[in-house]
Amino acid sequence: MTDVEKRPSRAPVPSGWEYAPAPEARDIVHIDERYGLYVGGEWLEAKEHYTTISPSSEEPLAEIAQAGPEEVATAVAAAREAAENGWAEISPSERAKYLFRIARILQERSREFAVLESLNGGKPIRESRDVDLPLAAAHFFYYAGWADKLEYAFPNRRPRPVGVAGQIIPWNFPLLMLAWKIAPALAAGNTVVLKPAETTPLTALLFCDVVRQAELPSGVVNIVTGDGRTGAELVRSEVDKIAFTGSTEVGKAIQRELAGTGKRLTLELGGKAANIIFDDCALDQAIEGIVNGIYFNQGHVCCAGSRLLVQESIYEQAVAKLKRRLKTLRVGDPLDKNTDVGAINSKQQLEKIRELVEAGEAEGAEIYQPPCRLPENGYWFAPTVFTNVAQSYRIAQEEIFGPVLSVLTFRTPEEAIEKANNTPYGLSAGVWTEKGSRILWMAGRLRAGVIWANTYNRFDPSSPFGGYKESGFGREGGRHGLEPYLEFE
Ligand code: NDP
Repeated sequence: MTDVEKRPSRAPVPSGWEYAPAPEARDIVHIDERYGLYVGGEWLEAKEHYTTISPSSEEPLAEIAQAGPEEVATAVAAAREAAENGWAEISPSERAKYLFRIARILQERSREFAVLESLNGGKPIRESRDVDLPLAAAHFFYYAGWADKLEYAFPNRRPRPVGVAGQIIPWNFPLLMLAWKIAPALAAGNTVVLKPAETTPLTALLFCDVVRQAELPSGVVNIVTGDGRTGAELVRSEVDKIAFTGSTEVGKAIQRELAGTGKRLTLELGGKAANIIFDDCALDQAIEGIVNGIYFNQGHVCCAGSRLLVQESIYEQAVAKLKRRLKTLRVGDPLDKNTDVGAINSKQQLEKIRELVEAGEAEGAEIYQPPCRLPENGYWFAPTVFTNVAQSYRIAQEEIFGPVLSVLTFRTPEEAIEKANNTPYGLSAGVWTEKGSRILWMAGRLRAGVIWANTYNRFDPSSPFGGYKESGFGREGGRHGLEPYLEFE
């Protein structure tokens, strides 16, 4: 007899998807009360500090150094010295060994990093544990493999390092963005000064311990914390190259600042990606792809599928299925292993999301949010879908960078292309159809750096990532990701 048949008639039948709390223990990670700046392999005291918090509870976590002009200059000098006195000259296979070591240490300490990432950034532990950490380690492994093969990567071109790279990263994938920046730079023989985002400095500071553990020569990696002023100082400093990921607005300001200086620049900026669903797609899989496309990491993803383009013939069915799926998303404690949607990264970002959602309602779009209880403290926003959206609405044009999806419709592939490309951005897109020929037809016409077919938000270190138009220029990942850190004779 099966278990079901054996159940006594009075036993309660499970009625819903209730989950018991499954919190990840946070005592695996030690957080210092106060951090300095990691410069030349030592901790340098700063004059000013600010408090970093946990966005899910607003609990203060640590005092973080605010690096000023002098401190940034000291960090750049340390990186310069390391570049000129050894790192660039060291044998490429030795460089590879350090990168392999860093990758392995990240794997070994991944739980500690994952907890800290969720604590400081608000993202669900499921994502930091299963996406951010494995991908960060994979980037170091991948570029470790290139370090002694640069002549093969660029045959007959005699590559050499650019020198000192200034790297400025955002708060949505703090450790992963650090890996995207540091791994190719080091593999190519550069030294770096990296500034993490103001709200999420803790995993970058823990990474300094990995650098120490890997016995990386002093000054090869320097970490300066602070707000946008520190970033601006780094841009003005004596670096040879700037690599920036963040908003289009700041990207443009950096480009203006660097014009005529001869410093190299790569920009990875915002996006407003179209996720395009044709009526012949596997709809249930597409619904999962839509959810992963926009609610992954609370929608704090530059390549998020924030505009859903649905073929008109399946519109009703797709929206009904999507709403039903939204009801099963669990919003809450980022450290709970069952959580799907965590906290919004900062108060400022929450205000921006609210402003754009209000604009969407005022312009006439129809809002849907599943019933969910949001925690009292911290910064939260329920997963949101807008239907009845016109192309001209702000929610269809501007990057919201939150868990908010705008649904539009189309009739023909040509119309889908026109609508998808009707944005100042060009970072990513998704296509869902069972026809391979249609995928290729669409991919050839979509103006986006990354196009996913029958999947979304998939990342791999060997695959180049970057944008067109206001989404920036330069590629990260793959062999292409080495080029911005090399000069060719
Ligand atoms: P920013 O572009 O301001 O932040 C990105 C990084 O640049 C941070 O380290 C930031 O420091 C630093 N920075 C800020 N001002 C300057 C400056 N003048 N010169 C050099 N560096 C600077 O993004 P926000 O955090 O303000 O987010 C605003 C919007 O940007 C979001 O709502 C989203 O739309 C978009 N965004 C896009 C990202 C992407 O991956 N494409 C990532 C993050 C945001 P600090 O953190 O201290 O301000």
